[in-house]
Amino acid sequence: MLYQSTRNNQYTASGPEAILQGIAPDGGLYMISDFSDIHLDWKALLELDTISMAAKILQALLPDFTPAEMEELAKKAYCGKFESDDLTPLAQVGDRYVLELFRGPTSAFKDVALSMLPQLMTASRAKTGMKEEIVILSATSGDTGKAALEGFHDVDGIKIMVFYPNNGVSAVQQAQMVTQTGNNVAVAAINGNFGDAQTGVKLTFAKASAQPETLNGAVLSSANSINIGRLAPQVVYYFKSYADLVREEKIKVGDKVSFVVPTGNFGDILAGYFAKKLGLPVEKLICASNENKVLTDFLNEGVYDRKRPFYKTTSPSMDILVSSNLERLLYMMSDCNNELVASLMKQLNEEGRYQVPAEMLAKIQAEFGAGFCDDQQTAATIRKVWEEYGYLMDTHTAVAWAVSEDYKKTAEEPVIVLSTASPFKFPYAVLSALGETPAENEFDCLTQLAEVSGLPIPKNLAGLKDAKVLHNTVIEKEQLIDFALTKAGEKQW
Ligand SMILES: *Cc1c(COP(=O)(O)O)cnc(C)c1O
Repeated sequence: MLYQSTRNNQYTASGPEAILQGIAPDGGLYMISDFSDIHLDWKALLELDTISMAAKILQALLPDFTPAEMEELAKKAYCGKFESDDLTPLAQVGDRYVLELFRGPTSAFKDVALSMLPQLMTASRAKTGMKEEIVILSATSGDTGKAALEGFHDVDGIKIMVFYPNNGVSAVQQAQMVTQTGNNVAVAAINGNFGDAQTGVKLTFAKASAQPETLNGAVLSSANSINIGRLAPQVVYYFKSYADLVREEKIKVGDKVSFVVPTGNFGDILAGYFAKKLGLPVEKLICASNENKVLTDFLNEGVYDRKRPFYKTTSPSMDILVSSNLERLLYMMSDCNNELVASLMKQLNEEGRYQVPAEMLAKIQAEFGAGFCDDQQTAATIRKVWEEYGYLMDTHTAVAWAVSEDYKKTAEEPVIVLSTASPFKFPYAVLSALGETPAENEFDCLTQLAEVSGLPIPKNLAGLKDAKVLHNTVIEKEQLIDFALTKAGEKQW
């Protein structure tokens, strides 16, 4: 099975090639053009334990790997890394369910994909006979950097370098990154904002491709959410939550369910649509946004317009105006019309806006719903769910819960709300929502939240305060390119 660029069907790649390249040469994203090529007995999956289920689904999406190889990779990625090998538990909360995706090594949902991606990359190197060492470059506003470091540390043949804005991430996020162990990791703060870090990384890629000799035989790559190797592992928890409902006799095999997904880059919710294409009985996928509601407007009206004010909200991982994975949905909903997708993406780039044909909008709306909620409602939701059900959620999850309220009023099928972060990752906002006065120091907020809620601080966060700082590099934003290229060319870190 070959993956195709969303923008030009001349650009194709095997699964391993797509994983190693990340993005297609024309700037398009690698996609499956025909899901009917994929053979998966989805009902048989429901009987499996989560890690074997993951292996089966990933093997179907990436058939260059044998079932035995994929089983091995999934075990390496997940066994013993999450709170339990069940990976993503489902909790019943009132008349809905919450799918907890944050029980991984950094307490964020990105762990699900970033635990698996390094295994897929290493195996793809072997499969394609790639000899060069890979250096992953990542600019982070907080969460992705740590999840990537945790996934890639001590992985053979791959190194990882993370740049974060100095004084631009939370104290806990900073501590998570600067205490990262591993002889293949580098972490640097830059005097600048997240945009500066992102620009610096992009320019580094450009300079490296113009002068590859500066890298001394290494190759740069990225771990961002447009890589098909990050999307594929996220398909698994949709099946897993369905299997849980069957096992608990809440539904029978074949009954429909709906999912409400806190959305930023559209990766998480798109994985849900992949699950549906693979056979999972999904009624609707509801896209939940915060005040940056570019996706709500798009899904309701068919016009994507990024020319609008950008809000910094209490759910920062969803503060996004250009959702890159939406391009894959456009491709699927236009019956793989590369020319149309390329033209829409050109309009977005040049004019900041595009409109999809009415027929395509109707197709999208048959599968997806959308809603949004502001910070005030987010806080009120955290408090209400805590007071009514004794369930504590983080700000991102609360956005999705708030959006699910409306949908739930008319839904007959079970509704599953995806939870993307532990409340302990955003203790300041969560404490404020509960009506408490948060301590000034964020580490004290963790203890305070544990006392108020009676819940344990996740282990990875509890140990941070006293963990040894291993990375104290601070550079000017103008130095990023030289720093990255020099470091990437060094054999020993
Ligand atoms: C990344 C992230 C999201 C958004 O997921 P996408 O796949 O980008 O839509 C939501 N919540 C949290 C906590 C995240 O880290």
